Amino acid sequence: GDALAVSARVAPLGSRLVLLLVEDLTEARRIEAVRRDFVANVSHELKTPVGALSLLSEAVMDASDDPEAVTRFAGRMQNEATRLTSLVQELIDLSRVQNDDPLEDAEPVRVDELVAEAIDRCRQQAGTKQITMAAGGTADLHVWGNRGQLAAALGNLVENAVNYSPARTRVGIAGRRVPAPGGDLIEIAVTDQGIGISEKDRDRVFERFYRVDPARSRATGGTGLGLAIVKHVAASHGGEVTVWSAEGQGSTFTLRLPEAGAVRDRERPPDLDI
Ligand code: ADP
Repeated sequence: GDALAVSARVAPLGSRLVLLLVEDLTEARRIEAVRRDFVANVSHELKTPVGALSLLSEAVMDASDDPEAVTRFAGRMQNEATRLTSLVQELIDLSRVQNDDPLEDAEPVRVDELVAEAIDRCRQQAGTKQITMAAGGTADLHVWGNRGQLAAALGNLVENAVNYSPARTRVGIAGRRVPAPGGDLIEIAVTDQGIGISEKDRDRVFERFYRVDPARSRATGGTGLGLAIVKHVAASHGGEVTVWSAEGQGSTFTLRLPEAGAVRDRERPPDLDI
């Protein structure tokens, strides 16, 4: 009797409950698939340089009576070791931005400092390619967040702009304040005159390990994790990152972050106590 009464009462809800349950399972299955893909990708990415190192060390042993070949192989071993190191470092960075709450040690961060740091990080590579870097509109802008994470995010965008551009082009970084209903946003746009990204790749470039051209990415020391880190940092700061691009002409990656309104108050000279 009771069971019947209960089931009669639940019945109208029943189909919704089942639907929710199915949605939950689908989501759980999707997350599980993403995790499995990630582990498979990491294994593959780690195995590639390790395999190369092993082959190269054999080649060195076989070439012991040819010093020139030994030097050449040793140079390639060094490249593979560098790749391995940057891959491990980016994996650590990614896991850090995914596990730490960035807003735990949030502070007002000066945008001009973030930009200067990002430019510094790429100075050598830009110099080799004679790429001009210019920044504007960043004075007096402050974002609210974790300094290290924000520096890593902007650094990745500028690094990509330099990496995926031909020699003698320009990389521009522009900042501005944009009014928004929930509080002003700070926009930092990184524009290059590089190879661009086709429409079908535009959303996918933010996925972990997704690269439009794996060979090119590897050649420039890319790991395919940079934009995944940027996207995560933006989202966890209550912001976003978007991309505009025209193939063969260039790309603009735009970071939008909450502005640190409190900063302006804090920087006002203190009242004099007379
Ligand atoms: P990577 O380490 O390969 O640079 P990212 O996650 O930073 O990894 O970027 C993913 C892919 O997106 C790159 O391999 C490249 O194909 C593409 N990409 C990123 N930034 C740019 C850019 N500014 N111009 C053209 N392609 C880009």
